[in-house]
Amino acid sequence: MGQAKNRGTQAERIAQAQAKIESTRPEKLVCNGCGGDVTTINPVSTRGLRGIDAIWVGQCDCGQTTFAASGEPNAVEAFFFALSENTELTLGRQEKDGAGHETA
Ligand SMILES: [Zn+2]
Repeated sequence: MGQAKNRGTQAERIAQAQAKIESTRPEKLVCNGCGGDVTTINPVSTRGLRGIDAIWVGQCDCGQTTFAASGEPNAVEAFFFALSENTELTLGRQEKDGAGHETA
């Protein structure tokens, strides 16, 4: 599985990880809302999601957010199940910490 080769620097490993994620980028997603093509697709952090290789989120012009995930079938299934179970906790809430804080 390529474990024998030199691992390289951390920067190289990060670049390789990003390249691996990019290799799974879908050309487009089909909007869950209007059925149109979604070509504005961004990667989402999969940290803490065991078995998930990559998650992509597409923002359609109609305002609907559509997800795609790749990885182990069971993990992908569980991810989408969690999304459907808890729509308020979708990854659409991605405001950075500190942004959107209201200070009186
Ligand atoms: Zn749409």
